[in-house]
Amino acid sequence: MRPRNKTERMVAELSAKLPAITEKQKQWAKDTCFEKIGYYNKGEVWCMSCGRVHEKAASPLGIDLVGDETVCPHCGTHLKLKNSRKRKSTERWYFTIATTCRGFQVFRHFIIERSMYKVSENISGGHEPYFSINEAVQNWITEDGKEYIMARPCKCIPHIYDAWNFCKPMSIKDSGSGRLRYSYSPDKYDINSEFVYPARRVIPKLKRNGFTFRCNKVSASSLAVMLLTDNEAEMLIKTKQYDLLYQKSVRGIPQDIKPSINICNRNGYRVKDASLWMDYIHLLQHFNMDTRNAKYVCPADLKKEHDKLLKRRNREEERQREIDRMREAQGWEKTYAQEKGRFFGICFGNEHIVITVVRSVAEMAEEGKAMHHCVYACGYYKKKESLILSAKDMNGNRIETIELNLKTFKVVQSRGVCNSNTPMHDEIISLINNNINLIKQAA
Ligand SMILES: [Zn+2]
Repeated sequence: MRPRNKTERMVAELSAKLPAITEKQKQWAKDTCFEKIGYYNKGEVWCMSCGRVHEKAASPLGIDLVGDETVCPHCGTHLKLKNSRKRKSTERWYFTIATTCRGFQVFRHFIIERSMYKVSENISGGHEPYFSINEAVQNWITEDGKEYIMARPCKCIPHIYDAWNFCKPMSIKDSGSGRLRYSYSPDKYDINSEFVYPARRVIPKLKRNGFTFRCNKVSASSLAVMLLTDNEAEMLIKTKQYDLLYQKSVRGIPQDIKPSINICNRNGYRVKDASLWMDYIHLLQHFNMDTRNAKYVCPADLKKEHDKLLKRRNREEERQREIDRMREAQGWEKTYAQEKGRFFGICFGNEHIVITVVRSVAEMAEEGKAMHHCVYACGYYKKKESLILSAKDMNGNRIETIELNLKTFKVVQSRGVCNSNTPMHDEIISLINNNINLIKQAA
């Protein structure tokens, strides 16, 4: 993209004049960005620092379980062992240099790539790691928090959003395009690299507003923009509420949470899991508990208190659903009596079983509750074709609940407690079949 205004032109010009990366910085990146590991396979360790192989007796299981270590006899590096039959390795990492230029805060993001091949020990040479270091993106941020992007173009490779084309020069980019057009993938210009070169330059206003590289979940450029444009971000960073700051950067902090954050800060309480904590504050609000009282707002065991309230709210919702169901069911009593009333007198059985028709929606609710099945919850009282009967013993204890189809006069189901079959199941079914005429006559 061509620069469209004065500032963009200035950024493009200044960017071209930035110094090239120094040998010292390159060496730092080589030493810092890669994990010091040795790939172990069949008594051989391939050192990822110098690329050479040495022999070592180790157990693959021990490496997986305990994390065995060794020292490379060739380069003296302390290596963490990993089981791998790899003979080729390519790794790439971002690293960042923070600098300033004519009042701009500048973050320069480089990619370091290391590739190497495993070469057998008796061949000299060819084992050394090959490094390439290239600059991909620069974030230029003004004192009032406006951001300008200088970056390489990207090659079109499916599923890789940051395939920078290092053969092409850097040019000014629309800082919105990385965020909007590619909203389904990470913002390619918002780079949060784990490695920041230790000699860092920061513009005075950012320094004053509390800028730090310690808030590692938010990228340096996003953090800088937030700190230059938003007092709340400044307050959060100065009180070391890094996880709240992260939540703020990804989804914002609701207005009603803010007084509770002040309580935390007044009590020196650091919120470690901000999304859980915000849920918890909303639960406190739900139960009208004091969200300005440190006793509630700053729990020693957040997870425990959160889960306690969550359970309470689930119970409350369950009760409410029950009330709603009852209210709905009450409205059905009249219809139920009209539709099924002609069967209410029916009663039959033998010397130890009595079978009667369920006479009201309330009775069906009781049946469902006592038997732990869904005859009531599923609204069988609404079903025109269903007749629900209850089989009890001589002491009035419920044995099974029976559904009969009024069109076919066949038993659809007959179930005991928790939908089980009882020892009297077959007896109940034959009692129904033997007395089906009573029901047919009433129908
Ligand atoms: Zn080595």
